[in-house]
Amino acid sequence: MMSEPLDSSSVRQATKQPLKEHKVVDIFDSLTGLLGRKPFFRVIDDEIEKSKLGCTSLALLIIDIVGLRRINLAAGIDAGDAVLCETANRIRESLRNCDSVARMSGGEFAALLPSMISEDHPILAIDKILQAFHDPIELQNQKLNVELRFGVALYPNTCSSTEQLVRHATTALLHATARSRSFSVYCEESKDKDLAEYAFALELRTAVEQNQLALHYQPKWDIKAQEVTAAEALVRWPHREHGFISPNKFIPIAEESDLIRPLTAWVINEAVRQTAEWHREALPIGISVNLSARLLQDPEVPEIVKNALDIWSVKPEYLTLEVTETAIMENRDQGAEILDQLNDLGISISIDDFGAGYSSFAYLCDLPVEELKVDRSIITGAAANTDSETVLRTIIDLGHNLGLLVTAEGVEDEDKYRSLERLGCDIIQGYLISRPLAADDFLSFMMRKRQAG
Ligand code: C2E
Ligand code: MG
Ligand code: MG
Repeated sequence: MMSEPLDSSSVRQATKQPLKEHKVVDIFDSLTGLLGRKPFFRVIDDEIEKSKLGCTSLALLIIDIVGLRRINLAAGIDAGDAVLCETANRIRESLRNCDSVARMSGGEFAALLPSMISEDHPILAIDKILQAFHDPIELQNQKLNVELRFGVALYPNTCSSTEQLVRHATTALLHATARSRSFSVYCEESKDKDLAEYAFALELRTAVEQNQLALHYQPKWDIKAQEVTAAEALVRWPHREHGFISPNKFIPIAEESDLIRPLTAWVINEAVRQTAEWHREALPIGISVNLSARLLQDPEVPEIVKNALDIWSVKPEYLTLEVTETAIMENRDQGAEILDQLNDLGISISIDDFGAGYSSFAYLCDLPVEELKVDRSIITGAAANTDSETVLRTIIDLGHNLGLLVTAEGVEDEDKYRSLERLGCDIIQGYLISRPLAADDFLSFMMRKRQAG
């Protein structure tokens, strides 16, 4: 990459010595004393050559201080500088003497690990660095916890030049950032997929931050009352190129990052706001909102729910949170605690997609649950090896014996409706009643039903 060779070991030694010569100033970052970006690239060139001769592998870590701008704003530029210097020291001291550390720009550092001793060498190095940041950085009058994020690329596995190594490690860092992970390793096989996913995740982040998502509402039909008593709020992403993107496509991506919390907070707030509006229009219906598996571990969820109900003055009995059977089983301990707190607020909990997973019924019985939503695969019979009506009857009876309301989802035809009615099912949801509708269309639908009734 750079033509003039530079002896990497002498440069590394020099990092620990005072900056005497004028020339040295060009090589080292004046704030941290680490190598600057350009000389670092020459060290990489040099190490790649050595690794070719010795048939060894090397790893490049690009390291980002998460939230440096926030530190600068909150604590001042001097504090930001002190954090940079201490970060440089801690990274340097966590690594071997033969490793090189550089400051790339702002809050971005890089470390080159030549002669890797094993495949997981970079992960062990990251672990060591993270351990060095276990204790907060102490400034004059405050302590700051510093979070780091890492992008990793390997030579010769996925790169053949310095430029490629840096580009791939940077891509891995962006990938880790988009997914809110502490590190990501670049790998050739998933290159295109990763980049596309990364772009998609970033677009989704913008959509959530700029409130570009929308809710559609699917009516829930009470068989005994013969009327719509509630609606399920289903999130959509109106995309300028791809139209309405299904939640099945973007919820898993949001779940892999910290995006799921703001997304869900928006959905809960918007669904409760819409419910308050309908209540003002003399439409006293309930609203169900889906809660992701990951949020069963998030202690802030009850507060988010309480705030929405308070702000829009909606009584808690109008709100139901749907949690899938699988999510509950995967988050047993903490999940039960959050469900108890939500139950204390006076809202209802529903077990969604029931019958699609394998759960311990004894465990589910102990939870504060009011509704069982039978999965569409059970309703259509797709999941049953045996007679689907027998399976349905068993689930409905089981739900009733536990004092739960039983809802059937995905009901598309009249025959299925009649059979569910006969089996004593309480609520029907599905295309037979209506597809999910935009808020205005939902209101028109309800007005038509009212006039017809
Ligand atoms: P779900 O909660 O089980 O929602 C029911 C899904 O079945 C919805 O798909 C609905 O449009 C679809 N559906 C309803 N009736 C019928 C029918 O008769 N036939 C067929 N074939 N499909 C029917 P949608 O809206 O694409 O949502 C898919 C899943 O995405 C939801 O499944 C839910 O798990 C998740 N989801 C939706 N909105 C949110 C949200 O705000 N937060 C979270 N965490 N997940 C959400
Ligand atoms: Mg649902
Ligand atoms: Mg469902």
